[in-house]
Amino acid sequence: MPDLYVDGSWVSALAGGRRTIVCPADGQVVAEIDEAGPDDTAAAIAAAHRAFHEGPWPGTSARERGDLLLRTADLLERDTDTIADAESRDTGKRFVESQYDVADVVSVFRHYGRIAAEDSGRMVDTGNPDVVSRIVHEPLGVCGLIAPWNYPLLQASWKVAPCLAAGNTFVLKPSELTPHTSIHLLRVLEEAGLPAGVGNLVLGAGAEAGALLAEDPRVDLVSFTGGLVTGRRVMAAAAATVKKVALELGGKNPNIVFADADLEVALDYALTAVFLHSGQVCSAGARLLVQEEIHDEFVDRLVERARAIRLGGPRDEKAESGPLISAAHREKVAAYVAAGLAEGATLRCGGSAPDDPELDDGFYYLPTILDECTSTMSVTQEESFGPVLTVETFASEDDAVRVANDSIYGLAGAVWTQDAGKAQRVAARLRMGTVWINDYHPYVPQAEWGGYKQSGIGRELGQAGLEEYRETKHVWHNIRPAEQRWFSG
Ligand code: NDP
Repeated sequence: MPDLYVDGSWVSALAGGRRTIVCPADGQVVAEIDEAGPDDTAAAIAAAHRAFHEGPWPGTSARERGDLLLRTADLLERDTDTIADAESRDTGKRFVESQYDVADVVSVFRHYGRIAAEDSGRMVDTGNPDVVSRIVHEPLGVCGLIAPWNYPLLQASWKVAPCLAAGNTFVLKPSELTPHTSIHLLRVLEEAGLPAGVGNLVLGAGAEAGALLAEDPRVDLVSFTGGLVTGRRVMAAAAATVKKVALELGGKNPNIVFADADLEVALDYALTAVFLHSGQVCSAGARLLVQEEIHDEFVDRLVERARAIRLGGPRDEKAESGPLISAAHREKVAAYVAAGLAEGATLRCGGSAPDDPELDDGFYYLPTILDECTSTMSVTQEESFGPVLTVETFASEDDAVRVANDSIYGLAGAVWTQDAGKAQRVAARLRMGTVWINDYHPYVPQAEWGGYKQSGIGRELGQAGLEEYRETKHVWHNIRPAEQRWFSG
């Protein structure tokens, strides 16, 4: 069966392109799939444009759209293990983590299914009894949705669910490396009754299949999650047609541990903060800032525990972490570590692929800790997106805030202390979209997600509202029109 979904049909790539998908855990071929080029994306945009401007979808009631999302949630839940298996084969992540991801995806669709019909607008009191004045919300139009490879279906669902709830049509382009769960999502949407052309799927490399989504004048919004460099490119391309732009571009997130923290708990969370999903998390706590007086003991114990982390494939039940997404990404992470060492960092553990022959065919990289880092190094400023922790020290509260904010990013951060006043003072001064106090990584239903500074634009809508995906219109209705006679002639 062909893999691209355009105008309600499963089709092959127009130019006949194909791509081999490989499992990062063992290098085995997962599948051969269709690879779109610009012509396929243009056809998908045309279908989404037609469905929006000529089809019934934007005129359906919000309740009908909500019901469709709720049906979609049920179907996704029904298929949990099939989807989790596909996600694990594309990403190499542990099967159990993929199951958690699917549960999150289901809750995202349920959330937007429930809120689709909320907040349909409001009346405005003009003070004039002859005027009925309303604020109404309307869909934007065609949305270009570009998703990355670290949480492929979850990131796609954060875009697709609010987009549909608001009455838009879309073209989704997942990462070229992780297409299978997006294919499954479109199948499920089709089964749930999504009209032809409302949802379209193109698979392929960003430059060929994705770029048009930011350029084409028929697209009204481009929502992108991925790297900073690509994000800048997407934003520049979108500027030519003044598209709405939503960007989530990652972070270089500080995890600040004061000497008065509960150090047992802080230590445990410091590991999860950075090594979860091998560091391939936009909010990863990859920058440990530890107060001078506890540095030695804290880092020694961290190194000991990092060395014990067991790597393995999706179905290895003893594995605690998996591989990196690709051989190319592993090379990028290794180059980043080499740059840090050249700049004066000290390697405390990791710094290479594992020497376990059982892991030879996968793209594994050992949990790595670089000590004696400073905020002037590239290794503390740039996102490695791998299992690499940099350690810096600070002397005082002011110092911690200054070092933590010394970044072009501002996505997330954490502060560990048992002094509630200090925790609140530091949290207030951190220039980041999310700050955790004595915690790391919790995913909070109903909370928005977004970054300060170069981490992004707009709130990425995990389980928030529909603001980014709709226009707001003021309708002024003069119900007793009469001549004004402003001019006498
Ligand atoms: P990219 O930012 O290049 O890719 C993200 C998505 O954008 C993919 O679907 C990609 O397609 C697509 N894309 C690439 N180029 C264009 C373009 N010109 N126009 C439109 N879409 C495009 O991520 P990489 O995989 O290259 O990773 C680079 C870095 O990004 C990572 O090392 C990490 O630092 C960061 N990253 C951040 C994420 C986050 O959650 N914020 C998630 C993933 C990565 P394709 O991959 O098919 O080419």
